[in-house]
Amino acid sequence: MSRIRGRDTAPELMVRRGLHRQGLRFRLQARLPGRPDLVFPRHRTVLFVHGCFWHRHEGCSQATTPSSNKEFWSKKFSENIERDIRVKRQLEKIGWRVIVVWSCELGDMDFGSLAAAIREP
Ligand SMILES: [Zn+2]
Repeated sequence: MSRIRGRDTAPELMVRRGLHRQGLRFRLQARLPGRPDLVFPRHRTVLFVHGCFWHRHEGCSQATTPSSNKEFWSKKFSENIERDIRVKRQLEKIGWRVIVVWSCELGDMDFGSLAAAIREP
């Protein structure tokens, strides 16, 4: 099971590689709320690569709920969801655009479209 704020995870590396190939340059581990995975200062945009399980991708088959310790998990999941919402608000408040990429989407991710979305003014 992957950690919530794991660094250099496979999905994250995939996104970095894909966007780098599109000519985008970014910073990592910037001191911003929620420590976004990728930061594009030129485009005032940050990107999070979210694991579907931990961040509860709605309607996603990977967002399962373990059958034991139900109470623990439901508390954990609501905390994660609340944190994601709070972080997004904080970032937007200081002028950043927030893009979320879900790990289940990476298999057939169109990095050209993603790069275009990041470059959008
Ligand atoms: Zn998903």
